[in-house]
Amino acid sequence: MKRLCLHTITTKPWTTEECISKYAAAGVGGITFWRYNLEGRDPAAVGRQTREAGLKIVSLCRGGFFPGKTPETRQKAIDDNRRCIEEAHALGAPLIVLVCGAVPGQPLEESRKQIADGIAAVLPDAEAAGVKLGIEPLHPMYADDRSAVNTMRQANDICDALDSPPMLGIAADVYHIWWDPELEHQIQYSAAQKRLFAYHICDWKTPTTDFLNDRGLMGEGCIPIRQISDWVDATGFKGHREVEIFSNRYWGMNQDEWLAKIVSAYQTLQK
Ligand code: ZN
Repeated sequence: MKRLCLHTITTKPWTTEECISKYAAAGVGGITFWRYNLEGRDPAAVGRQTREAGLKIVSLCRGGFFPGKTPETRQKAIDDNRRCIEEAHALGAPLIVLVCGAVPGQPLEESRKQIADGIAAVLPDAEAAGVKLGIEPLHPMYADDRSAVNTMRQANDICDALDSPPMLGIAADVYHIWWDPELEHQIQYSAAQKRLFAYHICDWKTPTTDFLNDRGLMGEGCIPIRQISDWVDATGFKGHREVEIFSNRYWGMNQDEWLAKIVSAYQTLQK
């Protein structure tokens, strides 16, 4: 259970404080906050409260969304990422997950260039704050407006192009990358470059009824989670297994029962 981390968005109906107390009571080891959790709150106080509850803060979701049609839009994104780095630093989160962004109609290569430029602009801030940045490749179904980075290889290419800065790496989420024939190799390569920063789990349902908010609980879909987890662990990865499930169906459930289901699915996965 120490390696189990929950993304707060998984239990979206709960307040920040409820997530902290309920996860801790369930024996969950880590928590990844989403930025909405910090709204109207002092991030440093949320951080203290979390550590006092015995939870490890794994990351803050999310930065990114760097591409834009105009320099002004792109600058706004850079400014927002700088604020995100400040929040993560105050919170005590060692990592920010980057959903890198895309602009519908703009060539993906151009968006990827803008993403690399945006990351390069905020890297010194991340370094000064001691906060790592993890590029999360997103499933190609989100290539229109959420991310032009759709494979581990593309994420690795950006890290390589920026001379592999130690603060920059990858957040690998099975939902986005399970289908990739290069996956095992790319996991190994990322780890060898010391840039495999985070590992997210959930499942892919058939049929998926909503592109965004119909993720499955581990075990109810077709993702070979054990296989991918074994590949990740075989690299020496000792980080958390972060459950991140956007689901209208599960958000509609009693959240205590939902949390119990998650813990049980996680334990089944360990057997
Ligand atoms: Zn994720």
